[in-house]
Amino acid sequence: MIAPGTAPAADRLRPPERVAVVDLDAIRSNVRRFVRVAAPARLMAVVKADAYGHGAVPVATAALEAGASWLGVAHIEEALALRAAGIDAPLLAWLHTPQSDFAGAIAAGIDLGSAGWELGPIAAVAVEQGQVARVHLKIDTGLGRNGSPAADWDALLSAAMAHQAAGRIRVVGVFSHLAVADEPDRPETDEQLAAFREFVALAERAGAAVEVRHLANTPATLTRPDTHFDLVRVGLGLYGLSPFAGTAPSALGLRPAMTLTSLVAQCKDVPAGQGVSYGLSYRTMGPSALGLIPLGYADGIPRIATGGPVRVNGVTYPVVGRIAMDQMVIDLGEAGLVASGRSATGAEAVLFGPGDDGEPSVDEWAAAAGTNNYEIVTRVSPRVQRRYLNAFPGAGDIRRQMTLESSTAVEDGPTARAARPA
Ligand SMILES: *Cc1c(COP(=O)(O)O)cnc(C)c1O
Repeated sequence: MIAPGTAPAADRLRPPERVAVVDLDAIRSNVRRFVRVAAPARLMAVVKADAYGHGAVPVATAALEAGASWLGVAHIEEALALRAAGIDAPLLAWLHTPQSDFAGAIAAGIDLGSAGWELGPIAAVAVEQGQVARVHLKIDTGLGRNGSPAADWDALLSAAMAHQAAGRIRVVGVFSHLAVADEPDRPETDEQLAAFREFVALAERAGAAVEVRHLANTPATLTRPDTHFDLVRVGLGLYGLSPFAGTAPSALGLRPAMTLTSLVAQCKDVPAGQGVSYGLSYRTMGPSALGLIPLGYADGIPRIATGGPVRVNGVTYPVVGRIAMDQMVIDLGEAGLVASGRSATGAEAVLFGPGDDGEPSVDEWAAAAGTNNYEIVTRVSPRVQRRYLNAFPGAGDIRRQMTLESSTAVEDGPTARAARPA
């Protein structure tokens, strides 16, 4: 083993073997699109789950540069990580347990969602710290998940107003979340919207001076201006992905930000009938070349996604046989035979990208895995390094690479060493 930092210079410049390249100009372009669509409502960039796998700090930074006014995350820990990185924009965290660090959140100026039980602990911590906690009350208008049940709303408002009168909290927001906005023909969005209006009116009648009412997610922001209110909470669309089945991102004016690539680790000729991977569920039809891709379910590629597309040397091949922990296989066919002098070993293997150069899409991987595009990008694991294009806004055509590194992206071994700044 060579100690970190002592690798030869050439090693340090070597691109990583497994990499998710995130184009921050694509993020900025998508943010600007949502800022325009949402106006006069403002945009909350939802950067939970490490910005859906894209890297929370670089994405949040790019989103704020491009006009987002707020950031949103699920957990207080995610919010604290943004604050620790020096990001001081308005920030909301909405999913808590009795163990959540309300003290840390209030001290860091993080707004807190409350569906009910959180109010007491938040108020108690605020008193202890001599601070006023900023709270957004969450009403369940039909999703049946996080949020106050309708029957408890009056009691929650009374409790909130009492805490507010005592100077412990301030109710700055009322919000809810939509269940079927990605299916614009369904009637439940209208029902949720009507219910939300009533619950907001009740809150205002109870004496809350609500600064921000917010309901819309990505699909509602795109299709339902009547759900925009003061603020829209957009996640998926920022990453350039489409929330609508059968609608490509480009049709929505969005640019996919992530490109996931590796290198062919081995290319070898096999005879007809060669079984491939655990279970031998695939056999070659004739003499063929198999290409080994060093990505598997430990990298976040769903094990079930056999058939998912991999582009090598300008041709897209489906994954054959079972996807394993570290590797998967494509069948390059007779045309790829190493014996014919065209070994693909070392060639770039692209799983998905924006599509400009014919790369497969995140949506194709979602289809292969029987899931949605959210899950494909969010699952990409810390074993895959993140790299950033266009880290500086306005760099124009000069594509600047490798200026930021996701905190979770460093892995041991020569690849990681190569990517660390000298
Ligand atoms: C994840 C989330 C969003 C963002 O949803 P998208 O469909 O990705 O735009 C908005 N609001 C809440 C409460 C969420 O949990």
